[in-house]
Amino acid sequence: QNTMEQHQFSAEVGQLLDLVVHSLYSDREIFLRELVANAADAMDKRRFEAQTESAVALPEGPTIHLVPNKEAKTLTISDDGLGMTREELVQNLGTIARSGTKAFGEKLSAAKPEDRPSLIGQFGVGFYSAFMVADRVDVVSRKAGTNDAFSWQSEGKGAYALGEAQRDQAGTDIVLHMKEDAEEFLDPMRVQSIIRKWADHISWPVVLHETKEDGTSEDKTVNEGTALWRRPKSEITPEQYTEFYRHVARAFDEPYATLHWHAEGMTEFTSLLYLPGARPMDFMEQSSRESRIHLHVKRMFITDEANLVPNWLRFVQGVVDTEDLPLNVSREMLQATPVLARIRKAVTRRVLNEIKNRAKEADQAFTTFWDNFGLVIKEGLWEDSEYRQEIAGFARFHSTHSDELTTLDDYISRMKPEQDAVYYLVGESLDALKASAQLEGFRARGLEVLLLSDAVDSFWPERLYSYQDKTFRSVAQAHGDLEKFAPEGELQGEPAEMDKLVPALKDALGEAVKDVRSTVRLTGSAVVMTSEGGPDLAMQRLMRRSGQ
Ligand code: ADP
Repeated sequence: QNTMEQHQFSAEVGQLLDLVVHSLYSDREIFLRELVANAADAMDKRRFEAQTESAVALPEGPTIHLVPNKEAKTLTISDDGLGMTREELVQNLGTIARSGTKAFGEKLSAAKPEDRPSLIGQFGVGFYSAFMVADRVDVVSRKAGTNDAFSWQSEGKGAYALGEAQRDQAGTDIVLHMKEDAEEFLDPMRVQSIIRKWADHISWPVVLHETKEDGTSEDKTVNEGTALWRRPKSEITPEQYTEFYRHVARAFDEPYATLHWHAEGMTEFTSLLYLPGARPMDFMEQSSRESRIHLHVKRMFITDEANLVPNWLRFVQGVVDTEDLPLNVSREMLQATPVLARIRKAVTRRVLNEIKNRAKEADQAFTTFWDNFGLVIKEGLWEDSEYRQEIAGFARFHSTHSDELTTLDDYISRMKPEQDAVYYLVGESLDALKASAQLEGFRARGLEVLLLSDAVDSFWPERLYSYQDKTFRSVAQAHGDLEKFAPEGELQGEPAEMDKLVPALKDALGEAVKDVRSTVRLTGSAVVMTSEGGPDLAMQRLMRRSGQ
């Protein structure tokens, strides 16, 4: 008998488990969705790695196996996936590596106790959801390409035990010792219906082991596993589309748009893509700026790292499935093949057209979409010379005109006849911008100013340079322009003693400033700081912050 080593969970895991275990609720069947999804991920990863590393090849007929055992009161979920090393067990199951889970844990603990159950039901908490139904979880895992298996056991109360184990093949078993009030999940019919509801699209066979009254037993595949995107649109219900979105995006909202089409011609592919209805919780913290659209070849999942759309569309979710690549396509080939370049172009065009059409509707749904993802799309204004002008055509901005967002076209239609530039002001927040003294001279002359407060706003105006022949000009550098425009209200003339004040100020400030001048820009404030010629003030602040 080998000895088990005791370990403590990281503090975050401890807290999360505590919240999960003490949130009794009706939707706890989602634990099975979470565990089966993990099993399928591990098998996807193994198949992909096996292309370059034959030692990790999948066994014949790989499956996800579910074994309910009423006598032992256990439910076992086994997979032929990549498995985990000892270190990976510690890292993956003993700490919270994923920022999304961490963000979720924070949201969960901030929620009122009575709201927690529905939050967990909506979002799931991955592996830890096992502790909603089990008072003990045993994991046995053997990493593909190695001979050693390890065991991880926990009652979900602050500690887990780690030791050596036996496993004939690579893969992972999750053994749930069911709580008394969760024995319903030992019923094969119940298990089958949960799989049908939550995991039908898993592309690996989910095999249920059923022991009959007479002692005989039977294995049957319970998921449909068909590639939804290959079915005709007319046969797919809105619910099925939404369900697949949640599966592929690991999301829980309703998609804002669903794009399902088949492309023929130079390159043949089928695509089922979604614009999400909500911003994922950890979206802005994600270190990766790359698209996670799944690439399939002949229905088989290949990778979610093929960058099928530009980074500024990285919120788009879904699958692209093509016949025109070999199943054993390598990473190098993915980089180089013209097939993928063509697919990328076609997919980007289709998504862009969809966004443009929806932008024309200019409804609340589009505003919400823009609130969620506009700050990512605007990165394209900065870094994508190919699509920059098109993006500018539908982008939305806050401005001094009204509280509603505006397009550049609408801004231009309101420009003064003698105005040749689009004025903008960059700042930390919309409130700060609205209160800025920089705006006074512009307000007094009825000149509209775009108010830009997203991080990327410091960069794109200079790079975009112009739209419809109007250049972008920061108000911080545009005082000279003001003289061209007549003030709309009464402005007081220059105070009589300005000619004394200015030299006195210059004297007092010395080297600290380049110049002191009287101005026609201000109506309420006494002074304003400006920078002419040099980088925009907000840009200077950003450069300082990033240590440049
Ligand atoms: P998520 O799957 O969302 O990352 P989980 O808490 O469900 O979060 O799982 C944490 C990590 O544990 C996974 O990212 C994966 O690396 C690992 N893991 C979980 N289940 C398995 C499994 N059956 N086989 C291999 N690795 C797994």
